[in-house]
Amino acid sequence: MTSDLPRRLADLLHHRSAGLQKGDPVALPLTTSTSFHLPDVQGAPYIYARNGTPTWEAVEAQLALLEDAEVVTFPSGMGAISAALFASLRAGDRVIIPADGYYVTRVLSEGFLTPLGVDVVQIPTLDYATADFGGAAVVYLETPSNPGLDVVDIADVCARAHAAGAMVIVDNTTMTPLMQRPLDLGADLVVAADTKAPAGHSDALFGHVAGRDAKRMGRVRDWRRLSGAVPGAMEAWLVHRGLETLEVRLERMCASAGIIAARLAEHPAALRLRYPGLADDPAHDLSRRQMQGFGFLIGLTLKDATVAEDFLARCPYLVRSTSFGGTHSAGERRARWGDKVPEGFVRLSIGVEPVEPLWAAMAEALR
Ligand SMILES: *Cc1c(COP(=O)(O)O)cnc(C)c1O
Repeated sequence: MTSDLPRRLADLLHHRSAGLQKGDPVALPLTTSTSFHLPDVQGAPYIYARNGTPTWEAVEAQLALLEDAEVVTFPSGMGAISAALFASLRAGDRVIIPADGYYVTRVLSEGFLTPLGVDVVQIPTLDYATADFGGAAVVYLETPSNPGLDVVDIADVCARAHAAGAMVIVDNTTMTPLMQRPLDLGADLVVAADTKAPAGHSDALFGHVAGRDAKRMGRVRDWRRLSGAVPGAMEAWLVHRGLETLEVRLERMCASAGIIAARLAEHPAALRLRYPGLADDPAHDLSRRQMQGFGFLIGLTLKDATVAEDFLARCPYLVRSTSFGGTHSAGERRARWGDKVPEGFVRLSIGVEPVEPLWAAMAEALR
């Protein structure tokens, strides 16, 4: 954690208290109103719910504390990613995106940016370390990459991209602002799916863009209001609640992931194990320098598709679902989506279960 993050986490829990009047609800009310009393236009804090609502404002205040930046929220991680890309790119620009990152970002770029005249170039995450960014308008990266868990040096990429005249967008979903600080390392915008650990209970789609340049963030905000990609009130309320426990959930999830990864690495069924916290992981040294924790995602390669599916089917404490970061541990064989990983590759997301029964169930399912 950066030095002032603990204080920011305490402020996050109390950000409402400062403004409370006698008799006000302590917990955030859920405001579903689409219109606001507007006898005249000047000075109204809220106008119409596509422009802003008290519920978004509350969750954006929490996220702004975590990011130490201006935050604009979106109805999903992809809503945030679309906003950052469409607010930053013009016809004739080149954008560099990871060939092995979250696949919907690639499909969006190919399907909608390419036809608008944007040159979309895909490179593997590890190649960001040596790529020439000359001619690029935007360098977009994801680290650790999902699902391969490769890590790239954010500060180094930012320095080289800026020298080449490009701006940098970082998808920080897998680590959250508690464990990785791309804006402090030079990134221009952060995008994230709060659907994952921040909401944390597998019941809300949500996302945000964070940045410290008012003009850039103004365009992101305009994109939301004009495109209409606005968060729902209920989702904003759920994420506000989720964020209050994010730190304690992450503490359990990451501690358990470290224990389970070390045991899986020793297990004869594991052909390969990726977890940045393991001393012999290729990403370990860089992760230690760049991240304030090693996360809750584990990449486990089993013999083949059948062995992997059997393992998931036989383990009662692994939900078989896509997505990650929820309270329940989950597992998914990623090749079923066409990710460029071995057929037996399983992405595990460790939840908040007590670790020993979780491990016992996994070990039994691997027998
Ligand atoms: C899930 C995810 C997204 C997309 O988020 P949604 O809320 O599902 O739209 C983007 N990037 C990464 C790394 C993700 O894991």
